Amino acid sequence: MKKVISKKEAKEQIKKFFEDLKNKSPKDIKKIKKLAMSYKIPLKENRKLFCKCCLNPHKDPSIRVKKGLIKINCGECDYTSRWKIK
Ligand SMILES: [Zn+2]
Repeated sequence: MKKVISKKEAKEQIKKFFEDLKNKSPKDIKKIKKLAMSYKIPLKENRKLFCKCCLNPHKDPSIRVKKGLIKINCGECDYTSRWKIK
């Protein structure tokens, strides 16, 4: 059964989720991504907090900055996320 919540509640849930991200599993992240998508809530900066490949939160990411790009290497699957510095 699907619980219906308001967009405001969904936003609140997502905010709380990312405050305690280090204790979350890839399964939880998948769920919150789905929630955000169904309510069309952009994750923005929060997307940088987990690996988009294996969905593990970046616990101790090795961050390198190079030519206007931030590179974060995932400790779980070795996937490298790249972000433009704004
Ligand atoms: Zn990964």
